[in-house]
Parts: sequence; C-alpha cells; structure tokens
Amino acid sequence: MDEQTARREIVRVGKLMYERSYVVSSDGNVSVRLDDGRIVATPTQTCKGRMTEDSLAVTDSEGKALNERRASSELAMHLLIYREREDVRSVCHAHPPHGSAFAVAGLAIDQPILSEVILTLGCVPLAEYGTPSTDELTEAMRPLVRHHNALLMANHGAVAYGADVWQAFDRLETLEHTARIAILSRALGGSRNLPPDAIEKLINVREAAGYLDERARCQSCGYLHETQVVCPAGERDAPPATRAASAGPNGKISLTREELIELLSQAAQAGR
Ligand SMILES: [Zn+2]
Repeated sequence: MDEQTARREIVRVGKLMYERSYVVSSDGNVSVRLDDGRIVATPTQTCKGRMTEDSLAVTDSEGKALNERRASSELAMHLLIYREREDVRSVCHAHPPHGSAFAVAGLAIDQPILSEVILTLGCVPLAEYGTPSTDELTEAMRPLVRHHNALLMANHGAVAYGADVWQAFDRLETLEHTARIAILSRALGGSRNLPPDAIEKLINVREAAGYLDERARCQSCGYLHETQVVCPAGERDAPPATRAASAGPNGKISLTREELIELLSQAAQAGR
C-alpha cells in the first residue's frame, strides 16, 4: 500500500472507531505497514475521530521517527505484531466497552458460541497485564500473536490486526460484537456452546476456505481443547514432559502451576 492511501484509510478507520465508541478522548491507535517497511501511525494525544491525513506520524520498522509527528506511545505493541507476523499490514488498538469488559473481568473471548466467529476470527485470548507502552505489555502479548488475529490485554483493551486496515478493523469489530453478544446471552440465562464435532467442522471449513490457517489452532484456545484439533506449532513448542502428562478422556491436559514447573525442570535436566 502507498503512503497516501494508508493515510486516508487510517483517518477513516479512526473516525469509525470514535463514532462507535471503541475509543474516547485520545485512546487507541492505528497503524499501517507500507510496502517499503515504513510505518504510518496515528499521532500521540490526538482524538481518533478528529485526525487529519497530514497529522499522522511516519516511522521506520524500529519505530524511529521519519517525520516531525510523534507516533502513539503504544506503537511498541504494533511493532511487536509486525515483527511476529509477516502477513500483517495493519494494527488497530482500541478500548471497545464490551471487549474491554472481558479484559477487565480477566476473561478471554474463547467460548464457542457463534459459528461465524469460529470461521473468521477464532478465539481471542487474554494477555496478562503489562504497563502500556513498556516491554511488560509486549512480552505478555508475544506468545499469543502468532496464533491469533486479535487479543485482549488485561485491564486495558483490545488489539486486532490483519492484511490491511479494513481487515484489522473488521476483526476488532467482530471481537466487540462477540463480547456484546456473550454478555447479553448471560442476561438470558447463559450461552449454549457449540459441540466439539460442530467446532471441528467449522475449523475444517475455515482452513479450506483460507479464512484462517493452522496457526489459529492454538492450544491456549479454550474450545480447541475439547475437539482434539490441535495447533501443530503449539505441539512442537510444548515441552515433551507436558505432552506425556496424564491426559483426560478428551485428550485435555490440566496441570497445576507447581506440576508444570516440576515437569519443566525435569525436562531441562533430562536435556543436559
Ligand atoms: Zn490502549
């Protein structure tokens, strides 16, 4: 994407985020990675509903300023996502009320309640709390970025990303819509989850259609545990000792923190 188009689309997405109350005041930020690797990003301390195309910051791939505008202080989370995901060209970060309510309650959006969401977004995990614009936050997000297209950040908000600014925004919107439906369904007595065989079919459809690839079969996803559909990357990353641990009837493994530490130290010693 060229710089002029990126500027125009960032301003349009910023307005939408503001009009839909995904951000207030100077919350949130949007960026696009250009074909030449430079980043166009929303400026710091600016309302996303009132930006102009010439107010945007431009940085190199490390976040170093290339024009006189200062990029958002949360640019570090965008740079992390661009580093971890070659395919990602745009990142949208906001504080949408329903999604952020999950993040504040310490909950991921990971229940299999809507077929379309399994097809197009997958589950949205919760990254542990980290101070905004510090390494604490990016380190908490890092292991999740490869397997998901949107994340919640505990006690903070949400971030979504994609191949262009509209895919990133659409994913943010799906996250917020899903969170809202989940909350409303609780008022009606609670949601009924899709059964494992239905989830497995949806995962096969989404991979055949190219909506999401195998990386999205992350083992941290609540509902994937039940289906025995696993993420090949996740399985490779798992220490051998944890895979050998007692699995339940559906292949689900649960360990306490102490058991996990014990297994990891055993594995480390065995590897010496
Ligand atoms: Zn924020």
